[in-house]
Amino acid sequence: MSTAAIIVAAGSGSRMSKDLPKQFMKLGDRSVLAHSYARLKKYGAIGPVAVVIGAGQEALSRSALGDGAMLVTGGATRRESVRAGLEALAALGGVERVLIHDAARPLLPAAVIDRLLDALKHGTGAIPVLPVVDTLARVEGARISDGVERSGIVQVQTPQAFAFDAVLAVHRQWNGATEPTDDASMVRAGGHDVIAVEGDTMLGKITHAQDLERAERDLGISIPRVGTGYDVHRLVPGKPLWLCGVQVPHDRGLSGHSDADVAIHALVDALLGALAEGDIGSHFPPSDPQWKDAPSARFLEFARERVSARGGCIAHVDLTIICEAPKIGPHREAMRASLGHILGIGLDRVSIKATTTERLGFTGREEGIAANAVATILLREV
Ligand code: MG
Repeated sequence: MSTAAIIVAAGSGSRMSKDLPKQFMKLGDRSVLAHSYARLKKYGAIGPVAVVIGAGQEALSRSALGDGAMLVTGGATRRESVRAGLEALAALGGVERVLIHDAARPLLPAAVIDRLLDALKHGTGAIPVLPVVDTLARVEGARISDGVERSGIVQVQTPQAFAFDAVLAVHRQWNGATEPTDDASMVRAGGHDVIAVEGDTMLGKITHAQDLERAERDLGISIPRVGTGYDVHRLVPGKPLWLCGVQVPHDRGLSGHSDADVAIHALVDALLGALAEGDIGSHFPPSDPQWKDAPSARFLEFARERVSARGGCIAHVDLTIICEAPKIGPHREAMRASLGHILGIGLDRVSIKATTTERLGFTGREEGIAANAVATILLREV
């Protein structure tokens, strides 16, 4: 059954900044909207995600979400914006279920989506709710009047999940006499049942500056992860010697399928190890002719992109190159600059060391060069 999502991101106001609508404000490493989008995109069962934006917000949205995002221009009210998103999905065809989400609730746990889609098997709509824990009361002017019975009252969150045809029909038939605050009330007004599932405090809406601070805390502490890598290549005559993306003058070079940059290979394995995503051979098999004589910088760029794709950053890399010759010292700074450039990190995060093995073993006999790498990355655990 095909499931799509709509993110309503058409708001133009903000109580936090006059210049920037709250969905475009920064939360951690990306915008509030980009968090909402990523959470829906990475959920396996969700296909297209239509992002409904305000007129004139296209450039901001593209820079937040990239060129591939499906952007739809919204209307004057939330209802009209949702309608625009529904029509855009209807035009794609084949959508059977839809989640409608507010961009301003960026930290959407996958478990809430699980519960919604599960409940939707038994009804036309499902919404996440939380119990009200504070005492409720009415006020008249500044005076408290009667208390409000709290039992049976819940806070309603998004995303709200619906059978696509039903929610599209109630939107198309809405007479516009009243302006609903959410889609569940419209679907209920259309005579359908809406099931309540457990919401999550992580789904709190960002309205005030302190909400953004709370979301920063909720986003989670970055957990350090450490990976190690080791590689060896044979020294042969008639080949250039590449180490850390720098060509080092020497009477021999390293043999291998690619440019045989043993230091970069060890470092790629360390980064993949920190991600627990296999090793260099599983991503770039030597049997594949396209990697013949390939510059190893490409493998390192790939590893860097994998770290970014997981929402992480590279905290530090530490390499030890093991050989009798050539001397690494004179090239160390060029090598650090090369790795820092490829990885997009400062020189203070790139360490390169060298050692000999006291003429012992294959490195001691100058038959080959070995490299050891340790990479530390920070991943947000969500
Ligand atoms: Mg290798």
